[in-house]
Amino acid sequence: MAHLLWGGADCVELARSFGTPLYVLDEAVIRARCAEVRRDFLSRWPGTDACYASKAFVTRAMARIVDQEGLGLDVVSLGELRTALSAGFPPERIELHGNAKSEVELRTALEVGVGRIVVDSLMELDVLADLAEEMGPAGADPAARRAGGFRQHARLHRHGRVGSKFGLPLEGDLLFEAVRRGMARSGLDLLGLHFHVGSQLFEPDAHLRSLVRVLEAAAELRARLGFELRELNFGGGYGARSNPSESHVPIALFTDAMMGALERECATRGLKRPVASIEAGRWIVSEAGITLYRVEVVKELPGLTYVAVDGGMADNPRRPLYGAVYEAVSAERPDAVADRSGSRVSVVGRCCESGDVLIEDARLPALRRGEVLAVFNTGAYTFSMASNYNRLCRPAVVLVRDGRADLIVRRETPEDLLAGDEIPDRLV
Ligand SMILES: *Cc1c(COP(=O)(O)O)cnc(C)c1O
Repeated sequence: MAHLLWGGADCVELARSFGTPLYVLDEAVIRARCAEVRRDFLSRWPGTDACYASKAFVTRAMARIVDQEGLGLDVVSLGELRTALSAGFPPERIELHGNAKSEVELRTALEVGVGRIVVDSLMELDVLADLAEEMGPAGADPAARRAGGFRQHARLHRHGRVGSKFGLPLEGDLLFEAVRRGMARSGLDLLGLHFHVGSQLFEPDAHLRSLVRVLEAAAELRARLGFELRELNFGGGYGARSNPSESHVPIALFTDAMMGALERECATRGLKRPVASIEAGRWIVSEAGITLYRVEVVKELPGLTYVAVDGGMADNPRRPLYGAVYEAVSAERPDAVADRSGSRVSVVGRCCESGDVLIEDARLPALRRGEVLAVFNTGAYTFSMASNYNRLCRPAVVLVRDGRADLIVRRETPEDLLAGDEIPDRLV
């Protein structure tokens, strides 16, 4: 039976050459998603912009791809910013997010001239304005030194409005006060508003609801403060499929709906249509990735079979964190029919937590020890959320294209774990 191929590469061979667990990313899928954003959003709707959200997955190779594909990059930490810069990503196409940015992060962002800083709170607004005024006009490009806007983070998709730790609520006076203060500060150029409604969404309703409410607020801000909304960022949240046989969600499902609504709502309210942007993370990279594991143990209990693999929540915490659902196949026999013995099969990790389950009720053939298992849809929020729990070493990442595999992050070793680990003299 033919082995599973990913990006043209034989997954059993990949496991043999690079070891397991192994993150494998198909470069062609990532590039195809970026191309779809350009074709179906940026070209179809002039006056738009698009970023890739680093937090889903970023390494220097990934930053190179995003740069070559012409998208911008969202970062939320010094680590992500340094990764992007060291890959040569143009700072003016970087956007800094985060609800607890440090002074070092804000200062660095101003120094290197990131394109946008998305302000999350009144306190951050004051700190940023002080820093920008203290540091004076930016060296090369004064326009680069500006705050992108305020983040409005109503989590509308779940339980109506709840007090989110992100952004400022639309109701009440906080947003009004923030815009008033922002407009008054010489160090800031307040460009617009931003919202992000959630993640893993398959229809645009939540985005559309937020869009309407934010434009209502923008109309009020114009009436009360003379604030002109020049930019509106729709955030991310576009969903990815766990089953590779299902076709991916077209970005236009969201962007056509949002752009249509934006034009209508702006016309209704007599607002000039702002530059509109999206920040896709999962949608760009998740389906491009699989994780390869080796089966260590098959434990057959009455009515339930545990397939324990050589990774788990340390390399993919998403099921324990928020119930993510995955599908897997044997990389050696991807077409093998599922075991029909009637026993439930759970794929579990090797971590010391009973919640360390990768897949509950997996549809898999009876597996052997040493067999390579491929879990789909793991390109996003796995490597970026990985930990060293149980002092496990983080897996390697390979990028595959046309059958060729390149290591883009080498596997951690126990020596890496010990590199920063010190015994104080008094314990020697
Ligand atoms: C997480 C996040 C994104 C990306 O979310 P996805 O669900 O991966 O598309 C975009 N923008 C902001 C502000 C975010 O916090």
